[in-house]
Amino acid sequence: MTSIPTTKLPDGSFMPVFGLGTWGMGESRASFEAEARALRSGLDLGVTLIDTAEMYGSGGAERVVASAIAGRRDEAYLVSKVLPSNAGHRQAIRACEESLKRIGTDRLDLYLLHWRGGVPLAETVRAFEDLRKAGKILRWGVSNFDVEDIRELETISNACATNQVLYNLARRGIEYDLIPMSRELSMPIMAYSPIEQGRLIGDRTLADIAAAHSATPAQIALAWMLDRPGIVVIPKSSRPSHVMENLMSISIRLTSADHAALDAAFPPPRRKRSLEMI
Ligand code: NAP
Repeated sequence: MTSIPTTKLPDGSFMPVFGLGTWGMGESRASFEAEARALRSGLDLGVTLIDTAEMYGSGGAERVVASAIAGRRDEAYLVSKVLPSNAGHRQAIRACEESLKRIGTDRLDLYLLHWRGGVPLAETVRAFEDLRKAGKILRWGVSNFDVEDIRELETISNACATNQVLYNLARRGIEYDLIPMSRELSMPIMAYSPIEQGRLIGDRTLADIAAAHSATPAQIALAWMLDRPGIVVIPKSSRPSHVMENLMSISIRLTSADHAALDAAFPPPRRKRSLEMI
């Protein structure tokens, strides 16, 4: 079992800084078992955090999660997301109950608004708070919220646990303002697509640094993120070998020369950029 560091949420609880994504899972019967096996291999290694959404595979990814955690719910830290089209009070409560049914659990550790739609934030927050009081979710957060959205949310409630956004070496825009703001609020960022959906693994600079650490480019991309306080990474893989490889990034220590080389290859932002989404 690997001991995975945690980060503190505004409610005082702790969340692991490394988890498993599930986007693309549950889309075909042929790959269902392999995907569940990959998530199970993570649990066996001590990776408890699993990120899913009602959207992924139209509920199929949540069913893969159900198969992976069968008989071991208490080991897992489960995150799911409600679609903006289901973010009204009544709809969000029903959507959450349906997610719980698909996952085969009585509670989610964290429930996120997948992205902002037309429903007033206050109404979604009220649904989240009602779900929390009923014990169906332990806490809630948002996803794909830029600085202005978080600012508006904070006028409604300061109970938001996290903001899940696109962040990796090739997408550093949030370092300009969203990350500093999140730190002030003690609100960790869940970084999605941390290896840019696999596109970072062919990068030359990452390959050079990886060679010096007897590591892989994917591991260096993840280690770079894990060096930053308040960042949670959720790489997705349907292969146990990649799950293990990605997890091993938590023990890589990058040098200041590595950081300088990465800053040169992937410059940090110098001005505000709108939040990117995948
Ligand atoms: P990602 O984790 O950056 O990349 C996943 C891709 O990389 C898969 O094709 C995977 O293939 C491959 N891969 C994983 N580990 C690898 C390794 N060690 N070596 C080579 N290839 C590797 O992208 P993502 O799935 O977009 O993002 C991660 C998770 O974030 C998602 O699954 C989802 O849970 C969440 N997400 C959330 C949002 C949102 O709007 N909130 C948006 C996007 C993603 P294999 O399966 O073959 O390993």
